[in-house]
Amino acid sequence: MIASMQGKRGLIMGVANSHSIAWGIAQALSRAGAELAFTYQGEALGKRVKPLAAELGSDFLLPCDVEDIASVDAVIGALKEKWGKIDFIVHAIGFSDKNELKGLYADTSRDNFTRTMVISCFSFTEIAKRAADLMSEGGAMLTLTYGGSVRVMPNYNVMGVAKAALEASVRYLAGDYGPRGIRVNAISAGPIRTLAGAGISDARAMLSWQQKNAPLRRTVTIEDVGNSALYLLSDLSRGVTGEIHYVDAGYNITSMPVLETLRN
Ligand code: NAD
Repeated sequence: MIASMQGKRGLIMGVANSHSIAWGIAQALSRAGAELAFTYQGEALGKRVKPLAAELGSDFLLPCDVEDIASVDAVIGALKEKWGKIDFIVHAIGFSDKNELKGLYADTSRDNFTRTMVISCFSFTEIAKRAADLMSEGGAMLTLTYGGSVRVMPNYNVMGVAKAALEASVRYLAGDYGPRGIRVNAISAGPIRTLAGAGISDARAMLSWQQKNAPLRRTVTIEDVGNSALYLLSDLSRGVTGEIHYVDAGYNITSMPVLETLRN
């Protein structure tokens, strides 16, 4: 079997620019034959997303800010009206105040904790619930997480807590929707230089640590994530649901840093 998405239609949420992980995923899905709709957060990003979508033959673009549930409902309504049903969704959305992505986790404010949770975690549940109603013949859902959910990463702070809740949501949603033939999975990507990634203090140090200590001795690219997403959204993975799939050059399996790193 090859990873074909011929005849499949789905929604990509989270392209901000050509460095976005969602863009790597969109490209892989499009190469495999999928037809794509895109959301964008605000008109300024819309101007960047429009030409990217056009590169993949799509002019189906919808504004969406997940803090405003009416805009999520409008996206689902537009998909229903234009396509009737969908086969997949990609949720590549995360946000936290960058002033709290440094220093101590314990200093997280109540307001930013709540906002981070709503945008980076609960939005996936709200979107999944609505998208499931458009997946009458089954489907696949994918979100993006990071290993700071299970291990302490300096500065990742409240995002790590939100990602832990997001990963638990993946398992609960997989349980909820499995009987309807809808699969729900996450990719836990290694650090990648993106707009969101740059908000984390000392992001460069994270990238170089990963490069030196991951078994593959490199960081991952949006193409790496895109190809794994294609597997998780296509029939190649039809027996897989509720998984957190690491695309991190193997970094999550390491314990002690490699000896060369310790010498430097
Ligand atoms: P990115 O900045 O390109 O994408 C983040 C997206 O989230 C943007 O498109 C932004 O518009 C969207 N977003 C933020 N708040 C929103 C809101 N209120 N409503 C709608 N959209 C909103 O960065 P990225 O690194 O591609 O991030 C995509 C996902 O991948 C995020 O969930 C991120 O946490 C995750 N991730 C990133 C890395 C990394 O190192 N870059 C690693 C693992 C996981």
